Amino acid sequence: MPVFTTSLPKSSYPDSSIDLFEAVERLKQELNAVILAHYYQEPDIQDVADYIGDSLGLSQKAATTDADVIVFAGVHFMAETAKILNPEKQVLLPDLDAGCSLADTCPPDAFAAFKAAHPNHLVVSYINCSAAIKAMSDIICTSSNAVKLIQQIPAEQPIIFAPDRNLGRYVMAQTGRDMVLWQGSCIVHETFSEKKLVQLQMEYPTAEVIAHPECEEPVLQRAHFIGSTTALLNYAKQSQTQQFIVVTESGIIHQMQKQLPHKFFIPAPPMNQCACNECPHMRLNTLEKLHQAMIHRRPEIVLPEDVRQAALRPIQRMLEMS
Ligand code: SF4
Repeated sequence: MPVFTTSLPKSSYPDSSIDLFEAVERLKQELNAVILAHYYQEPDIQDVADYIGDSLGLSQKAATTDADVIVFAGVHFMAETAKILNPEKQVLLPDLDAGCSLADTCPPDAFAAFKAAHPNHLVVSYINCSAAIKAMSDIICTSSNAVKLIQQIPAEQPIIFAPDRNLGRYVMAQTGRDMVLWQGSCIVHETFSEKKLVQLQMEYPTAEVIAHPECEEPVLQRAHFIGSTTALLNYAKQSQTQQFIVVTESGIIHQMQKQLPHKFFIPAPPMNQCACNECPHMRLNTLEKLHQAMIHRRPEIVLPEDVRQAALRPIQRMLEMS
């Protein structure tokens, strides 16, 4: 299903002589814009954002903003969700190539065939999917509310859960529900090494392991707490523990350290000596690109109206049920 977008001219480049923080603040006033940023964004972007959150918080914020322009510092499916909820507003994404490896594991044609092979199943899709997949779903969920939403579905109703198999398995374990899982996964959350995590635990024996449910099962089994990025942050706030090993995209550590400067956060190690615990898609957005997007008012998210309307229903169901 086509998604139409407009992108920034290649000739655009940031002027290094200006104070980007001030310039972005000025543009916010001029455009009546709000900047919504995911926790996985680089620290500079988090510092200019009006709201920082996980997918659920960001969609709730997008649903209620009275700004004329939403600058969405996140990945494509998140900006699409904001546009689905706000057809009359302009939604800008600093880098149009900021996609999502998990969303890409669920192509619409293959998913339509999968759905057809499982008639009478209710389709619950994790928000990390394209507008086309949302349009084929009955309910959208996030990692914050997936367990709560599945518990509200009558026990006899068969369910397809897509696209993340790790979150699906976690929800099955939490609810005791059997579900048909689409076999998608996130390259970042599957990169954490259980072996290196154990080594880190030996190095920091008092540290609590806090993990995102998109991680693989052996890693989750080592966690003291499992939750969405917001839940991880809240857990770190209320826990008496001073040290945490954080098993999710390392961008969240900026907020943790900022809000809890007296506590110590250790990013969980990926398999190799790489920066694989940073989402390569999320990190495509930079403060410079965000500034340019506000000046040029593009790249802009534009969706065909029929897709938008079909994708809106399952998102509204999620917001009602959350
Ligand atoms: S961390 Fe994974 S699920 Fe999140 S945007 Fe990046 S690739 Fe997608």
